[in-house]
Amino acid sequence: MTALTCARCGRTDAPALPRPPLPGKTGLEIRQTICTDCWAEWQKMEVMVINELRLNFMDPASQVTLEQHMRKFLYPGAGEES
Ligand SMILES: [Zn+2]
Repeated sequence: MTALTCARCGRTDAPALPRPPLPGKTGLEIRQTICTDCWAEWQKMEVMVINELRLNFMDPASQVTLEQHMRKFLYPGAGEES
């Protein structure tokens, strides 16, 4: 297992995900910057966000909304994207 410095919890020997959790660039970025524990926390939060906002995966706008919530959750120090 690879170790990384997690952008969310700040641990310097945090366990990396075994593979990118999402397709494309975002998945690679998360794999390089977010530890398995923080990703597991997001997966729990994701269910709540989907239920609360009634997101529909067939709807591209819902996917954008979900990614925005994911980024806020995983990178709380990154600030708002304009
Ligand atoms: Zn972490």
